[in-house]
Amino acid sequence: MLLLSQVSKSYGNTRVLAPTDLQVPAGETLVLIGPSGCGKSTLLRLIIGLIKSDSGSITFAGTILTSENIFQIRQRTGYVIQEGGLFPHLTVRDNVVVMARHLQRNATWINSRFTELAELVRLPQELMHRFPAELSGGQRQRVSLMRALMLDPELLLLDEPLGALDPMIRYELQQELNGIFSQLKKTVVMVTHDIAEAAYFGHSLVLIRDGHVVQAGSFKELTLSPAEPFVERFISAQREPMERLTKALK
Ligand code: ADP
Repeated sequence: MLLLSQVSKSYGNTRVLAPTDLQVPAGETLVLIGPSGCGKSTLLRLIIGLIKSDSGSITFAGTILTSENIFQIRQRTGYVIQEGGLFPHLTVRDNVVVMARHLQRNATWINSRFTELAELVRLPQELMHRFPAELSGGQRQRVSLMRALMLDPELLLLDEPLGALDPMIRYELQQELNGIFSQLKKTVVMVTHDIAEAAYFGHSLVLIRDGHVVQAGSFKELTLSPAEPFVERFISAQREPMERLTKALK
Protein backbone atom coordinates (compact mmCIF):
# COMPACT_ATOMS: atom_id res chain seq x y z
CA MET A 1 0.00 0.00 0.00
CA LEU A 2 2.73 2.45 1.03
CA LEU A 3 6.36 2.03 0.14
CA LEU A 4 9.26 4.32 0.96
CA SER A 5 12.52 3.60 -0.77
CA GLN A 6 15.72 5.39 0.27
CA VAL A 7 13.82 8.53 1.26
CA SER A 8 16.03 11.15 2.91
CA LYS A 9 15.77 14.74 4.05
CA SER A 10 18.23 17.46 5.07
CA TYR A 11 17.73 21.05 6.08
CA GLY A 12 20.83 22.92 4.97
CA ASN A 13 23.76 20.84 6.17
CA THR A 14 21.72 19.03 8.80
CA ARG A 15 20.47 15.62 7.82
CA VAL A 16 17.21 14.95 9.69
CA LEU A 17 16.42 11.68 7.88
CA ALA A 18 19.00 9.23 6.51
CA PRO A 19 17.95 7.19 3.42
CA THR A 20 15.02 5.20 4.79
CA ASP A 21 13.01 2.22 3.53
CA LEU A 22 9.54 1.54 4.92
CA GLN A 23 6.67 -0.65 3.88
CA VAL A 24 3.08 -0.60 5.16
CA PRO A 25 0.81 -3.37 3.87
CA ALA A 26 -2.85 -2.47 3.23
CA GLY A 27 -5.01 -2.58 6.36
CA GLU A 28 -2.05 -2.56 8.75
CA THR A 29 -0.87 0.00 11.26
CA LEU A 30 2.78 1.02 11.40
CA VAL A 31 3.86 3.03 14.41
CA LEU A 32 6.85 5.38 14.40
CA ILE A 33 8.50 5.75 17.78
CA GLY A 34 11.67 7.41 19.00
CA PRO A 35 12.97 10.35 20.99
CA SER A 36 11.71 13.84 20.32
CA GLY A 37 13.37 15.38 17.24
CA CYS A 38 14.40 12.01 15.71
CA GLY A 39 12.46 12.58 12.48
CA LYS A 40 9.03 10.99 13.02
CA SER A 41 6.91 13.97 11.98
CA THR A 42 9.29 14.65 9.10
CA LEU A 43 8.49 11.19 7.75
CA LEU A 44 4.74 11.90 7.85
CA ARG A 45 5.24 15.29 6.18
CA LEU A 46 7.22 13.61 3.41
CA ILE A 47 4.48 11.02 2.87
CA ILE A 48 1.74 13.67 2.62
CA GLY A 49 3.99 15.78 0.39
CA LEU A 50 4.19 18.85 2.62
CA ILE A 51 7.96 18.64 2.24
CA LYS A 52 9.94 17.12 -0.59
CA SER A 53 12.51 14.38 -0.07
CA ASP A 54 16.09 14.89 -1.25
CA SER A 55 16.35 11.35 -2.55
CA GLY A 56 14.40 8.13 -3.04
CA SER A 57 10.75 7.56 -3.85
CA ILE A 58 7.40 7.19 -2.11
CA THR A 59 4.87 4.87 -3.72
CA PHE A 60 1.21 5.03 -2.75
CA ALA A 61 -0.99 2.17 -3.98
CA GLY A 62 1.35 1.57 -6.90
CA THR A 63 1.78 5.25 -7.86
CA ILE A 64 5.04 7.10 -7.26
CA LEU A 65 4.36 10.49 -5.66
CA THR A 66 5.28 13.48 -7.80
CA SER A 67 4.53 17.19 -7.53
CA GLU A 68 1.93 16.64 -10.27
CA ASN A 69 -0.12 13.92 -8.55
CA ILE A 70 0.37 14.88 -4.89
CA PHE A 71 -2.88 16.85 -4.65
CA GLN A 72 -4.89 13.87 -5.89
CA ILE A 73 -3.04 11.49 -3.58
CA ARG A 74 -3.66 13.83 -0.65
CA GLN A 75 -7.39 13.42 -1.16
CA ARG A 76 -6.90 9.72 -0.54
CA THR A 77 -4.98 10.36 2.66
CA GLY A 78 -6.28 11.55 6.04
CA TYR A 79 -3.79 13.50 8.13
CA VAL A 80 -4.14 14.40 11.80
CA ILE A 81 -1.40 16.69 13.04
CA GLN A 82 -0.33 17.17 16.66
CA GLU A 83 -2.98 18.99 18.71
CA GLY A 84 -5.52 18.33 15.94
CA GLY A 85 -4.83 21.38 13.77
CA LEU A 86 -8.48 22.45 13.51
CA PHE A 87 -9.29 25.85 11.98
CA PRO A 88 -10.17 28.01 15.01
CA HIS A 89 -12.60 30.25 13.09
CA LEU A 90 -14.67 27.34 11.73
CA THR A 91 -17.32 25.37 13.62
CA VAL A 92 -16.96 21.63 14.18
CA ARG A 93 -19.14 20.92 11.19
CA ASP A 94 -17.36 23.34 8.89
CA ASN A 95 -13.98 21.99 9.94
CA VAL A 96 -15.03 18.46 9.04
CA VAL A 97 -16.68 19.22 5.69
CA VAL A 98 -14.38 21.99 4.42
CA MET A 99 -12.48 19.79 1.97
CA ALA A 100 -15.58 17.97 0.70
CA ARG A 101 -17.21 21.36 -0.02
CA HIS A 102 -14.07 22.58 -1.72
CA LEU A 103 -14.22 19.52 -3.96
CA GLN A 104 -17.91 20.30 -4.62
CA ARG A 105 -19.19 17.03 -3.29
CA ASN A 106 -22.94 16.66 -3.30
CA ALA A 107 -24.64 18.27 -0.25
CA THR A 108 -26.72 15.18 0.56
CA TRP A 109 -23.60 13.02 0.49
CA ILE A 110 -21.79 15.50 2.76
CA ASN A 111 -24.67 15.47 5.26
CA SER A 112 -24.94 11.72 5.48
CA ARG A 113 -21.15 11.22 5.64
CA PHE A 114 -20.93 13.79 8.42
CA THR A 115 -23.68 12.08 10.44
CA GLU A 116 -22.08 8.66 9.91
CA LEU A 117 -18.70 9.92 11.16
CA ALA A 118 -20.18 11.71 14.18
CA GLU A 119 -21.73 8.37 15.17
CA LEU A 120 -18.48 6.52 14.52
CA VAL A 121 -16.39 8.77 16.79
CA ARG A 122 -19.34 9.29 19.18
CA LEU A 123 -19.47 13.05 18.98
CA PRO A 124 -22.79 14.42 20.30
CA GLN A 125 -24.97 16.43 17.90
CA GLU A 126 -25.11 19.46 20.18
CA LEU A 127 -21.39 20.12 19.61
CA MET A 128 -21.64 20.52 15.84
CA HIS A 129 -21.95 24.30 15.82
CA ARG A 130 -19.31 25.00 18.43
CA PHE A 131 -15.86 26.38 17.65
CA PRO A 132 -12.74 24.34 18.53
CA ALA A 133 -11.97 26.58 21.55
CA GLU A 134 -15.35 25.56 23.02
CA LEU A 135 -14.47 21.84 23.04
CA SER A 136 -12.46 19.62 25.38
CA GLY A 137 -9.15 18.14 24.17
CA GLY A 138 -10.79 14.74 23.63
CA GLN A 139 -13.63 16.26 21.63
CA ARG A 140 -11.18 18.21 19.45
CA GLN A 141 -9.24 15.01 18.74
CA ARG A 142 -12.47 13.32 17.66
CA VAL A 143 -13.29 16.20 15.32
CA SER A 144 -9.77 16.06 13.80
CA LEU A 145 -10.29 12.39 13.21
CA MET A 146 -13.68 13.01 11.57
CA ARG A 147 -12.06 15.57 9.29
CA ALA A 148 -9.30 13.11 8.38
CA LEU A 149 -11.88 10.40 7.60
CA MET A 150 -14.36 12.60 5.71
CA LEU A 151 -13.24 11.66 2.19
CA ASP A 152 -12.90 7.99 3.20
CA PRO A 153 -9.13 7.90 2.70
CA GLU A 154 -7.27 4.66 2.15
CA LEU A 155 -4.34 5.87 4.23
CA LEU A 156 -4.36 7.65 7.59
CA LEU A 157 -1.35 9.56 8.90
CA LEU A 158 -1.68 10.34 12.58
CA ASP A 159 0.88 12.47 14.41
CA GLU A 160 0.48 11.95 18.15
CA PRO A 161 -3.29 11.85 17.70
CA LEU A 162 -3.89 11.28 21.40
CA GLY A 163 -0.92 13.30 22.60
CA ALA A 164 -2.65 16.09 24.49
CA LEU A 165 -5.15 13.92 26.35
CA ASP A 166 -5.28 12.91 29.97
CA PRO A 167 -4.68 9.19 30.59
CA MET A 168 -8.31 8.14 31.13
CA ILE A 169 -9.63 9.78 27.97
CA ARG A 170 -6.56 8.60 26.11
CA TYR A 171 -7.26 5.00 27.07
CA GLU A 172 -10.89 5.32 26.02
CA LEU A 173 -10.03 6.86 22.66
CA GLN A 174 -7.29 4.29 22.04
CA GLN A 175 -9.87 1.55 22.23
CA GLU A 176 -12.32 3.39 20.01
CA LEU A 177 -9.64 4.22 17.46
CA ASN A 178 -8.45 0.66 17.24
CA GLY A 179 -12.04 -0.42 16.61
CA ILE A 180 -12.39 2.22 13.89
CA PHE A 181 -9.16 1.18 12.13
CA SER A 182 -10.07 -2.48 11.99
CA GLN A 183 -13.74 -1.82 11.17
CA LEU A 184 -12.83 0.48 8.26
CA LYS A 185 -9.75 -1.58 7.27
CA LYS A 186 -7.54 1.49 7.10
CA THR A 187 -3.83 1.56 6.43
CA VAL A 188 -2.34 3.71 9.17
CA VAL A 189 1.00 5.34 9.94
CA MET A 190 0.97 6.70 13.47
CA VAL A 191 3.51 8.65 15.49
CA THR A 192 3.57 8.27 19.24
CA HIS A 193 6.13 8.65 22.01
CA ASP A 194 4.19 6.18 24.18
CA ILE A 195 5.53 2.65 23.89
CA ALA A 196 2.35 1.07 25.32
CA GLU A 197 0.30 2.87 22.70
CA ALA A 198 2.74 1.75 20.00
CA ALA A 199 2.45 -1.85 21.14
CA TYR A 200 -1.34 -1.61 21.28
CA PHE A 201 -1.84 -0.22 17.76
CA GLY A 202 1.18 -1.35 15.78
CA HIS A 203 1.31 -4.42 13.57
CA SER A 204 4.86 -3.18 13.25
CA LEU A 205 6.92 -0.61 15.09
CA VAL A 206 9.76 1.43 13.65
CA LEU A 207 12.15 2.87 16.21
CA ILE A 208 14.06 5.89 14.94
CA ARG A 209 17.03 7.70 16.44
CA ASP A 210 18.72 10.76 14.93
CA GLY A 211 17.04 10.19 11.58
CA HIS A 212 18.06 6.51 11.35
CA VAL A 213 15.83 3.47 11.68
CA VAL A 214 17.31 1.54 14.60
CA GLN A 215 14.91 -1.39 14.38
CA ALA A 216 11.66 -2.30 12.65
CA GLY A 217 9.48 -5.19 13.80
CA SER A 218 6.70 -6.22 16.12
CA PHE A 219 6.72 -5.09 19.74
CA LYS A 220 7.64 -8.65 20.66
CA GLU A 221 10.63 -8.62 18.31
CA LEU A 222 11.87 -5.29 19.63
CA THR A 223 11.46 -6.48 23.21
CA LEU A 224 12.85 -10.01 22.83
CA SER A 225 15.56 -9.37 20.22
CA PRO A 226 16.63 -5.73 20.42
CA ALA A 227 18.92 -4.83 17.52
CA GLU A 228 21.11 -2.72 19.80
CA PRO A 229 21.20 -1.64 23.45
CA PHE A 230 19.37 1.60 22.61
CA VAL A 231 16.21 -0.39 21.76
CA GLU A 232 16.19 -1.98 25.18
CA ARG A 233 16.90 1.34 26.88
CA PHE A 234 14.15 3.10 24.96
CA ILE A 235 11.55 0.48 25.85
CA SER A 236 12.56 0.03 29.47
CA ALA A 237 12.75 3.80 30.09
CA GLN A 238 8.97 3.82 29.91
CA ARG A 239 8.17 0.41 31.33
CA GLU A 240 10.52 0.18 34.28
CA PRO A 241 9.28 3.10 36.40
CA MET A 242 5.76 1.65 36.28
CA GLU A 243 6.94 -1.90 36.99
CA ARG A 244 9.04 -0.69 39.94
CA LEU A 245 6.08 1.18 41.32
CA THR A 246 3.77 -1.83 40.95
CA LYS A 247 6.33 -4.09 42.70
CA ALA A 248 6.77 -1.58 45.52
CA LEU A 249 3.03 -1.63 46.18
CA LYS A 250 2.87 -5.42 46.53
P1 ADP B 1 9.97 14.28 15.80
O1 ADP B 1 8.64 14.29 15.11
O2 ADP B 1 10.61 12.93 15.84
O3 ADP B 1 9.93 14.91 17.16
P2 ADP B 1 10.73 16.05 13.64
O4 ADP B 1 10.54 15.18 12.48
O5 ADP B 1 9.68 17.08 13.90
O6 ADP B 1 10.98 15.18 14.94
O7 ADP B 1 12.12 16.83 13.49
C1 ADP B 1 13.32 16.15 13.17
C2 ADP B 1 14.46 17.13 13.16
O8 ADP B 1 14.30 18.01 12.05
C3 ADP B 1 14.53 18.00 14.40
O9 ADP B 1 15.87 18.14 14.77
C4 ADP B 1 13.95 19.32 13.94
O10 ADP B 1 14.52 20.40 14.66
C5 ADP B 1 14.38 19.35 12.48
N1 ADP B 1 13.47 20.14 11.63
C6 ADP B 1 12.17 19.89 11.41
N2 ADP B 1 11.63 20.80 10.56
C7 ADP B 1 12.64 21.65 10.24
C8 ADP B 1 12.75 22.81 9.40
N3 ADP B 1 11.70 23.25 8.70
N4 ADP B 1 13.95 23.41 9.31
C9 ADP B 1 15.03 22.94 9.97
N5 ADP B 1 15.01 21.86 10.79
C10 ADP B 1 13.83 21.22 10.92
